[in-house]
Amino acid sequence: MPHALPTPDLNAALLAETARLAERTIEVRRHLHANPELGFQEHATAALVADRCAALGFEVRRGVGGTGVLADLDSGRPGPTVLVRADMDALPIEEVADGRPYRSTVPGVMHACGHDGHTAIALSVAQVLHALRDRWNGRVRMCFQPAEELGDGARRMIQDGALTGVDRAVGLHLTELYPVGVLGLGPGPLLAALETFRITITGTGGHGSAPDGAIDPLPITAEVILALRDLRARIGDSATVTATQVNGGTAPNIIPTEVSIAGTIRSLDPEGCGALSEQVAQIVREIAERGGASAGLTFGPSCPTLTNDPAVTELLRTAFTEAFGPERVQPVEPMTGSDDMSRFLREVPGCYYAVGAPSPDAPSSHHPAFDIDETALSVGVESLTRATLALLA
Ligand SMILES: [Zn+2]
Ligand SMILES: [Zn+2]
Repeated sequence: MPHALPTPDLNAALLAETARLAERTIEVRRHLHANPELGFQEHATAALVADRCAALGFEVRRGVGGTGVLADLDSGRPGPTVLVRADMDALPIEEVADGRPYRSTVPGVMHACGHDGHTAIALSVAQVLHALRDRWNGRVRMCFQPAEELGDGARRMIQDGALTGVDRAVGLHLTELYPVGVLGLGPGPLLAALETFRITITGTGGHGSAPDGAIDPLPITAEVILALRDLRARIGDSATVTATQVNGGTAPNIIPTEVSIAGTIRSLDPEGCGALSEQVAQIVREIAERGGASAGLTFGPSCPTLTNDPAVTELLRTAFTEAFGPERVQPVEPMTGSDDMSRFLREVPGCYYAVGAPSPDAPSSHHPAFDIDETALSVGVESLTRATLALLA
């Protein structure tokens, strides 16, 4: 692949457009942060991005894979088709954010993973690419994806034709792992495969005063959770098993009939999730049997290991190093986080990279007080535009 860097003329135009949109990107992010929507319910978010892209002259497809949006812009000249992906969904978390003017206005729903930033960035990238449309060849497909956190949005968009005619894919995730404005990228497998599990422990229930007369699913549930924790301790750093959710019981004086547990299995080894799923199933079966209860276990949604294409990654690394300087382009270590961008990258060569955006004193993502440093949004717009131009060249 040739290493085509933007001409000085194109570079100046790109920088001017990005600077012009800096405030607007923050405004859009704050609007989305204040109005978060859960996976497959991103109706207002999808309408906003679809309307904005349609107004620019993009050819827009709504309702792709549920609430997804595809927006194509054709240069009219032959060249590759590049898909630019951003996820739109929020999380079921009650935001804790004293004095934050843009805090969530939706009870129990919050953008705690930065997807508000991703959507705002991609919308500005669409605007920059539109402004520069006489200077690149081929076709751009903006892909606003639903339900990344549910692990199923990418799968459904692909099923609905999101990758038809696409040659390359690119996307970014804001992260607290790097200083603000630092970009992290690398080739090969970087994020873990994901499997979701749901366990149901069924006993007999009964009166709270007579536990001996009942098969109480609660202590059995506790045993299962501790056994899963022990399993995690045994499997090393490249995989993890985490129970994150327990539901059961209705009153202090009733032994429930049923308790459910949910969680995730993640592994950087593509085969790892399958092997761990079997171990989880065995643990659940044995403990339930010993306690005289019955156990149900279902798996899914899941997503594969995220693997960056080496040639595409090298092309982006060259473009980023040229634009931002070598000290702002860092290698990344594989980690047990997951992202269903992996489904796009399994079908077409591409690269998913990280943009440092830690907010001072804010905790990690998926925490009720999570926030991003908004100055990173412009770095996101500039880098994602550069990445797209490099892949179109
Ligand atoms: Zn997340
Ligand atoms: Zn995320």
